[in-house]
Amino acid sequence: MAVDSLGRPLRDLRISVTDRCNFRCTYCMPKEVFGRDFAFLDRAELLSFEEIAHLAQLFVREGVTKIRLTGGEPLLRRDLERLVAMLARIRGVQDIALTTNGALLTREKAFALREAGVNRITVSLDSLDDAVFRRMNDVNFPVARVLAAIDAAAEAGLTPVKIDVVVKRSENDGDIVEMAHRFRGTGHIVRFIEYMDVGNTNGWRMEDVVPAREIAGSIGAHWPIEPVEANYFGEVAERWRYLDGAGEIGIISSVTQPFCGSCTRARLSADGKLYLCLFAGTGHDLRGLLRGGADDETIAAAIRGRWHSRDDRYSEIRAEATPIEKVEMSHIGG
Ligand code: SF4
Repeated sequence: MAVDSLGRPLRDLRISVTDRCNFRCTYCMPKEVFGRDFAFLDRAELLSFEEIAHLAQLFVREGVTKIRLTGGEPLLRRDLERLVAMLARIRGVQDIALTTNGALLTREKAFALREAGVNRITVSLDSLDDAVFRRMNDVNFPVARVLAAIDAAAEAGLTPVKIDVVVKRSENDGDIVEMAHRFRGTGHIVRFIEYMDVGNTNGWRMEDVVPAREIAGSIGAHWPIEPVEANYFGEVAERWRYLDGAGEIGIISSVTQPFCGSCTRARLSADGKLYLCLFAGTGHDLRGLLRGGADDETIAAAIRGRWHSRDDRYSEIRAEATPIEKVEMSHIGG
């Protein structure tokens, strides 16, 4: 297993299969920037499913056991289940997860993904208040259709469904308790995410961040909760359980309680670049090696070499970090 310069093993690979999305969430892909004229990747620039599976196999050789499919919105890539089936056939892959906004997650699609090999699914839903949600996704998409997608995932056996909520001050921070209440006792896990300065376009300000302890406090004031041990080294969300047995929630505190020390995540962009951090500036071109005819040992050595020299810990040094042109989250997945 490849280990980086801070002793962190390479274990998780997040694969962005497209840089396009059918939402324009203001904290990720603001419409003003990602409009009609935005230069999204051309089809020829995208890795094919065969190329993704080939690279994934080489990452598995270097230690990866968990794969998460992201975007943009991954379900915009047609027949994604075909890619899932390819990844599920790779010896050493123990877990395949998908992050989606739910807009294209029908009952049929959920069953097809499950059948192909998806084990876990995360659906983003920033508010139950239709007006707030439509404002945040900025394409007027209704809450009801995302709730239906969550039900479809549950019917397909992709449980517990994780529901991701990016919490932004004066936007949806008033909905935290209602969101917790809606999924208490359902077995699903709501994960509240501190608003992050991802990319360069969301106009991030510290004062718009609702700290993890405040989120925990507002929920704990209604239903007593206690922290729970992580399920595994490198788990992103801090776990909290309801004392009355109604399940658990998660809080992702990249801004106020960074967790870089246990970050085991590599990211592969849809055009085949390896990124070592969500807040990285540049990626390492693996597609060029692949399409240039490099053999597996050469590509694996490139992955290993990049990981070995990895010292990224942006969230821990955010305040004093030298400002750089960061990659957009929609280009590498969250
Ligand atoms: S900031 Fe970078 S190194 Fe830190 S947890 Fe996030 S992705 Fe990992």
